[in-house]
Amino acid sequence: MSVAAPSRKAAARKPAPAREPIASLERKFRKLGLCEPADFIVHLPLRYLDETRITPIARARAGQHAVLEGEIIHSEAQFRPRRQLQAVLEDGSGRITLRWLHAYPGQQERLRAGRRVRARGEVRAGFNGPEIVHPLMTEAGAALPRTLTPVYPTTQGLSQASLRKAIDEALAGADLDDTLPRQIREAYDLAPFDESLRMLHHPVPEVSLDSLAEHRHPAWRRIKFDELLAQQLALAVARAARLAQRAQPLAPGGALLERLRASLPFALTGAQQRAIAQIAADLALGHPMHRLLQGDVGSGKTIVAAFAAAHAIAAGAQVAIMAPTEILAEQHLRKFSEWLEPLGVQVAWLTGAVAAAPRRAALAAIASGEARLVVGTQALIQDKVVFRNLGLVITDEQHRFGVGQRLDLNRKGEAGDALPHQLSMSATPIPRTLAMAFFADMEISVIDELPPGRSPVLTKLFADTRRDEILARIGDEVRAGRQAYWVCPLVEESEALQLQTAVDTWERLRGILPDLRVGLMHGRLPAQDKAEVMGAFREGRIDLLVSTTVIEVGVDVPNATLMVIEHAERFGLAQLHQLRGRVGRGAHQSACVLLYQPPLSGVARERLRAMYETSDGFEIARRDLAQRGPGELLGIRQSGQAPLRFADLSDDEGLLDQAREAAARLAADFPEHALAHQRRWMQGRAQYLRS
Ligand code: ADP
Ligand code: MG
Repeated sequence: MSVAAPSRKAAARKPAPAREPIASLERKFRKLGLCEPADFIVHLPLRYLDETRITPIARARAGQHAVLEGEIIHSEAQFRPRRQLQAVLEDGSGRITLRWLHAYPGQQERLRAGRRVRARGEVRAGFNGPEIVHPLMTEAGAALPRTLTPVYPTTQGLSQASLRKAIDEALAGADLDDTLPRQIREAYDLAPFDESLRMLHHPVPEVSLDSLAEHRHPAWRRIKFDELLAQQLALAVARAARLAQRAQPLAPGGALLERLRASLPFALTGAQQRAIAQIAADLALGHPMHRLLQGDVGSGKTIVAAFAAAHAIAAGAQVAIMAPTEILAEQHLRKFSEWLEPLGVQVAWLTGAVAAAPRRAALAAIASGEARLVVGTQALIQDKVVFRNLGLVITDEQHRFGVGQRLDLNRKGEAGDALPHQLSMSATPIPRTLAMAFFADMEISVIDELPPGRSPVLTKLFADTRRDEILARIGDEVRAGRQAYWVCPLVEESEALQLQTAVDTWERLRGILPDLRVGLMHGRLPAQDKAEVMGAFREGRIDLLVSTTVIEVGVDVPNATLMVIEHAERFGLAQLHQLRGRVGRGAHQSACVLLYQPPLSGVARERLRAMYETSDGFEIARRDLAQRGPGELLGIRQSGQAPLRFADLSDDEGLLDQAREAAARLAADFPEHALAHQRRWMQGRAQYLRS
């Protein structure tokens, strides 16, 4: 593009760093995910520099990127502490110092007094007035670019000049044909793709910089729409592929389900019954179910899963249940055994911690088909586990498993060509936009009703200095026959340190509350000790359980009515909501005390306020999405896959709806366009989205 030409020329004339070797340049591009020309053209600027006009020196402000032109009136080299160069530029309106911290031979000659030059760079307030350190120098009087200069996201050692050059080359060579037919563009009022893209790389100076920065400009809208559309198309393809796969149809089982229902000490809520019916309908089909069971903490997802399991077992299939932690798996073992063993279902137990002999026995029972239900942790997805006839896989707190792990499990039932049905339970409610964007390939059941008789948990914020009041409160609670949790602060840097804090707190609290039975739970306890401690707490032999965040998810002890969270300001919103969800599970009034260490940062204050203001998990999830973004929320940040680069799911809900609708139209009426669109956007990302 013409606009980039002057700066490219400038870069070429800039003598300093030797040309980067091609191989290392490529490696750096790859680091940014830039492999194909299609990747380069959608590597979009973070911001822009205005180099379209010359600023009078007197008007150049600190912090501003400016282009200045004038005459060198003085220059001098210094040799101590190292070779430095300094020049003064004057343009009639004022003077500014130009400085180089390391100078090279010949440079001073070019800055001889009397020369007219152009200097570009960020102005700062120097010791002796305004200055620019390491300005880019060009000849005075050369043509100015007509568009803003893009500043791209980059990586260590990769210059903006190299990036601009590569991107401009890609733009010049790439096919920028619109992948969307006119009908779709008009229906959704979309700007043309090529114009949008060119404009985002090289906007004219008249454009509103705010609308660019906030991604509100129509060009941004087009790019975000295209990104969301590509994602929706990929999910639709994955869904179609799933519907084409085979699964064992599991006929509804009558007697076993009726006996399970009759054995429960409570009646199912309407929402639970709806979810059970939706799952039952899916299980009876000949393609694999992928259903996500959503519900707030305490809404009773586990029993719904038990009905799904009973259905599959009655139909003659085996069922696997996976939980992310041993504590939770153990709890599932206890509950599912309690519910299903009396009905004649044999349950097997499999975690990493199971000893060799019982492990062999479990594996044999699973392989023979004798064990109808297998409960465990990630150990379940290891290769050695062979099922006779796996028909249904249930994952609890689904988003805690990595994407890859879910894939592995999917392959477990492939004996024959039938795949198992899958039911996932999410720990925390997922905002609608997020579910649509990332789980569009799943059906979703929502339990939007809590079991009757629950009174909402009272949430209180206490500065750390008011600990004594809390300690007194714990005593009251225990004397009334209740139990309490004390959750120790998250120590981000070190698990060992977090452990130490828990141990210290446990000792301190035992000293302060001598007549209470205080227990300690943390992730490093051997599996058997964990089970022992949880058992004692469940049975009321421990009054106060000091714990790290290992009890965060799923733990269900209805008699516990007080949750104290120390250094609550260090926890994320979803995590606080999960922890709070450990109480308020029975009929007794419960409270959650968030102890914080003042002063609070702005974000921490927002989080604690959200906890105080609402106990609705869906609302919390919405705020969490706005604060942290989808990668964090879904626990997929570590996978290195930025889920969406441009669209913002907390802002672009309307756009997502449109993109979804457009994806269906495109797939139905313009399959060629749909393919072209996916090809442009989905380089290497399809595998990730299919999982
Ligand atoms: P979550 O959705 O957080 O996983 P659980 O499945 O652990 O919730 O259920 C929370 C508690 O509510 C459990 O003690 C469970 O036995 C109880 N529960 C579930 N369904 C009902 C119901 N319909 N009526 C009364 N209590 C219920
Ligand atoms: Mg649960």
